[in-house]
Amino acid sequence: MGAYQYVAPTSVDETLAVLKEAAARGERAQVLAGGTDLLVQMRGVDRAPRTIVDLKKLAETSRLELGEKETYIGAAICCAELYENAALKARYPGLLEAADLIGSTQVQGRASIGGNLCNASPAGDTIPALIANAAICVVAGPDGQREIPVEDFVVGVQKNALAQGEFLLGLKLKAPGPRTSDAYLRFIPRTEMDIAVAGCGVALTLNDEGICTDARVSIGAVAPTALLVNDAAKALIGTPVDDEALAAAGAACTAAASPITDKRGTVEYRRRIVAVLCKRAGAIARDRILGV
Ligand SMILES: Cc1cc2nc3c(=O)[nH]c(=O)nc-3n(C[C@H](O)[C@H](O)[C@H](O)COP(=O)(O)OP(=O)(O)OC[C@H]3O[C@@H](n4cnc5c(N)ncnc54)[C@H](O)[C@@H]3O)c2cc1C
Repeated sequence: MGAYQYVAPTSVDETLAVLKEAAARGERAQVLAGGTDLLVQMRGVDRAPRTIVDLKKLAETSRLELGEKETYIGAAICCAELYENAALKARYPGLLEAADLIGSTQVQGRASIGGNLCNASPAGDTIPALIANAAICVVAGPDGQREIPVEDFVVGVQKNALAQGEFLLGLKLKAPGPRTSDAYLRFIPRTEMDIAVAGCGVALTLNDEGICTDARVSIGAVAPTALLVNDAAKALIGTPVDDEALAAAGAACTAAASPITDKRGTVEYRRRIVAVLCKRAGAIARDRILGV
């Protein structure tokens, strides 16, 4: 039987080498960011020995850059640090609201957006918000770097698109143009510290007349993976994002959802609530742009 080991590489090459060497020995290696999912799993359902590869000492996974055209968010930066960055919050208020919903203050001091995405829970709160913002995943691997649109990154319940030996370096998002904003809402049965029954992220652009020229809508916790709902976006584009358009977008979310019944809600309830969340998140994103 193998043993637990912990390594904290300081470069991408060193990290890739550790992952490669473990694979060559036929041993398991797993990367760690904040550990808020991983440690819970290791204490419960998945106790097998492995090499834990801590990503927090890499410059690339800890880098936050707000460029003129693009934002880069290192995969291992904790949610609390992101939430406290006023300039980042001004760019993507919905994404930061999603990050701020994760667990408690203590959890947010460790939990990263990268870990939330890689863990690939259907209810991961930042995933619909990242999809609404058209984030691009920057992945490091043995053959160099590659990029994956975030809506293609989660491929199943707790399954992501990373191949063996690869890890997520960070996320690239376009700097929002004028009259663009986003919002994320979820519903939970308690006031906090629970996972979403349903969630919805909406990003909108309006022209000077208040007409929607671009939209992305994503729903979470109502299918095996968070979904990009193109029909909901189509229902908003070309409209003033009024009640009628929001109702049509909500109906598209209901149609796209394929939820399960569990202790948090039934199929019928989840289908209904996701439409309500879409309408409300769409109205919040619109009002943020209009400044009302
Ligand atoms: C009390 C509590 C409450 C919570 N509440 C919520 C909630 O409300 N909403 C919610 O969405 N989540 C919640 N979570 C889950 C958790 O905090 C999040 O999913 C968190 O964002 C995971 O990030 P992390 O940095 O801790 O990831 P880790 O635990 O370090 O990693 C999670 C998984 O992703 C992999 N991984 C991490 N980083 C990378 C990378 N860069 N490249 C490749 N693979 C990687 C790890 O190997 C592991 O499989 C809660 C957890 C706890 C303990």
